[in-house]
Formats: sequence, C-alpha cells, structure tokens
Amino acid sequence: MVSNKAKQKKATVHTLGCRLNQSESHIIREKLEEAGYRYVPFGEKADLAVINTCTVTREADAKSRQAIRQFIRKNPGAFTAVLGCYSQMGAKDIAEIAGVDLIIGNQNKLSFLDYVGHGKNERPLIVRDRIDKNDFSISFAGDLPFEKRANLKIQDGCNFMCSFCVIPFARGRSRSRDYKNLIQEAQSLVERGVREIVLTGVNIGTYNNHDCDILSIVDHLNILSGLLRIRISSIEPTTVPEALLDRMADPDHILLPYLHIPMQSGSDKILQLMRRKYAICDFVKFINNAANNVPNLCIGTDILTGFPGEGEKEFDETCQVFLDNPFAYCHVFTYSERKGTPAIRESEIVPVSERNRRGAFLRKLNSKRRYNYYESYLGKTMEVLFEDKRQGIWPGYTGNYIRVVSDTSQDLRNRLARVHLEKISADYVEGSLVKVLN
Ligand code: SF4
Repeated sequence: MVSNKAKQKKATVHTLGCRLNQSESHIIREKLEEAGYRYVPFGEKADLAVINTCTVTREADAKSRQAIRQFIRKNPGAFTAVLGCYSQMGAKDIAEIAGVDLIIGNQNKLSFLDYVGHGKNERPLIVRDRIDKNDFSISFAGDLPFEKRANLKIQDGCNFMCSFCVIPFARGRSRSRDYKNLIQEAQSLVERGVREIVLTGVNIGTYNNHDCDILSIVDHLNILSGLLRIRISSIEPTTVPEALLDRMADPDHILLPYLHIPMQSGSDKILQLMRRKYAICDFVKFINNAANNVPNLCIGTDILTGFPGEGEKEFDETCQVFLDNPFAYCHVFTYSERKGTPAIRESEIVPVSERNRRGAFLRKLNSKRRYNYYESYLGKTMEVLFEDKRQGIWPGYTGNYIRVVSDTSQDLRNRLARVHLEKISADYVEGSLVKVLN
C-alpha cells in the first residue's frame, strides 16, 4: 500500500543572495506546504523547484544559472520555476536554459502558485509585471512550525540609486510593509516558537508606514511576550536614528547590539563616484560613536573592491579605514558591471584580475579581524541562542554575532543560555554551558 506521504508531490526551494530573499523563500515554502506539497531539501529528488535568484553581481547571475541547471539535470520532467531579481533583470537569459517552465520577476514572486498549475511548457512562461510603488502586505501561513530565528520582511526596494547597484531596478522603488500586517506576522512567528526576529529589507532604515518607522517596530516587538531578541539586518549609514543605538545600549530592550552598516569604500573620491550619501569622516565618526555608546557592539560592513577609478591609493585608504576602526568583520564584494547602472559608463576601469587581487587581500584582513574580534571575548560569559544540534554539538550565536558551539548532553534547542567562551576553533568559539535561561 502506498502511504499518503509517498503519494504527496515533493517541492524544494533554493535561495541565492540576501536575507530578504531568504525571508521571501520561507514564505514560498509555507505556501507550497499549504498547497499540499511535501518540502524536501534542495538536492533531493523533487517534482517542483522554486529557485529564488539574485543578480547583484555577475557571479550571482552565474550561480543562479548553475542552480537552475543542476536541478533540471537531476530532475528531468520536474517543474522548474525561477523567481526573483535575476528573473526580473535577465528573463531572456534564463529562458535560454532548456527545461525552465516559469520565470517570475519580483512583483509576482509570492503568487507563483497561480502559474504553476499551467503545467510544463515548450517555452517558459514569463511573468514580469511592473513593480508596484505602493506599500504592501504579505499573506503568511500562521500554522506551520517555525523555530529559533526568523527573518521578517519589513520593506522592499530602494530610492538611493548608488551608481553601481542594480537593486533599484530589480526590486523597484522603496516601499514599506503595512505596519499591522508585519506585527501580526511577528506575533504569529513568536507563537510558533521563534525567539529571535531579524528585520530585513533592502533599505530598512527608510521604513515608513502610517507614521511608524523602524523605531516603532523595534519598540513594539520589544513588548511581545515570548520574543527574546530583535536583530536588524544591514542598514544604510545615513538612515540609522541615534535612538536605535540607545535601544541597543538599553539592558531592558531586546534589540541586539549588532550593526551591519555598508561602507563600500574608505575613499571620498570613490564614495562620490558611487553616489553614496556620506563622506568617510562622517561614517567613521558615526561608527566610533556607536561603538563607544553601545556595550559589546558588533559592527560589520560591506566593502566593494575594484570600482572604476579605484587606484592603489584609494584601495589603501579603504584598507586603512577598515584596520583603524572598530569593525568586527567585513563582507567583501568584487565590482562587476551591471547593465543599466551609471557606473558602467565610467572610464577608469580596474582590470578584473586586480579587482580580484584586492578582494582576496581584504578577505585576508577580514579573517584576521574576525579572529581578533572573537579573541577579545575569550574568558567572558555571553548569552547564546542555540539552534539544532549538528554533528553532536550545539551551535548558536551571541547577540553580537559570535558563532559559538557547545558540547553538552543537555537539550539546548531553541534555548537561550549563558556560555563561558573558551577557545577559538576554525570560524567559531567553543564555550561551556553556565546556565540555561529559558
Ligand atoms: S542603498 Fe545603494 S547599494 Fe543599497 S540597495 Fe540602495 S542603491 Fe543599492
């Protein structure tokens, strides 16, 4: 006899790119489960794949294509739906890949199920509507289990038009999620076991809906019973209200001391060419003020190497700013030309090999810096929110983003505990359990 489970169609979701894509992929997964599919991890045999793509760099395009091909090769005859930023910007290129059935841009990505019923096609169906300019709500499934940490989408799109960035075209203009709707989802997440909510979007500091801003959100979530932590994801330098730092410093507020703030370059000449909205001295002043006022603050940043016009001098300036200031880590991106962006008209092109060399150099600085950051916490006792046990040990993060593992027979899944940090191993810190707090 064939069990119901065996008869159930299987679906998988693969996510490329940012936290915002991850949060949307979670909603996509919930929609699939609600529609009766059994979710399986990407890489296992499936009847349907949703590939949520990224187009921020050329490398992201290539990785998206690779994932699509990988699924089709392993699952001939399955239905392949390609969603997201690369679908928005490169639908024609995706349509060239034999076996793709559906290509949906960002406007319709969360209603992808409406198009899946069309079945397999000779040529893919392309749905790429104009991106709406209005604020939005998201329908979410309130009854599926969800534990530990969840990304909560509060905003989409961006109006800043940095000269290298394709995101304002891929995701449209800045718009905010309906305040009530996002609070309802936050409540539902907490009821389903979530202990940490990460606020995500493209430019979350510009959130504004019915006179509510990002501070209104963190203060509202602060009083949600059962929620232990709020984290904000990447936030643009000119958009962080001082009061947000006060919340991070306040021991009675559950907003974590974590600030990922993209610098992109340490050279004013390059920042201007990039059309960033600050001078490097203001950026440096801001992060030092933050570090001085928020105890145990983790400051991370993004740096883009090889932007046109970046010579040795400008690159050195960037490395120097990174080394001289209280950063815990940086994410390094290598500049690549994106169609439609003003930067591709710049003439002082940096050869690709040089862009890569600079990227590799900065990554080395970053490894050292992250090590030093972890080292500065050895011997201290920190609170860690633990995830599922993996390979016999419990992994988790401190509020200020130190990856910690603990080897104990106690069940730490989804628990907050005080941990004594003892030793750096690979890219995490080993710690011994002091006390479970929840
Ligand atoms: S702030 Fe600049 S880099 Fe960030 S999404 Fe907007 S345009 Fe792109």
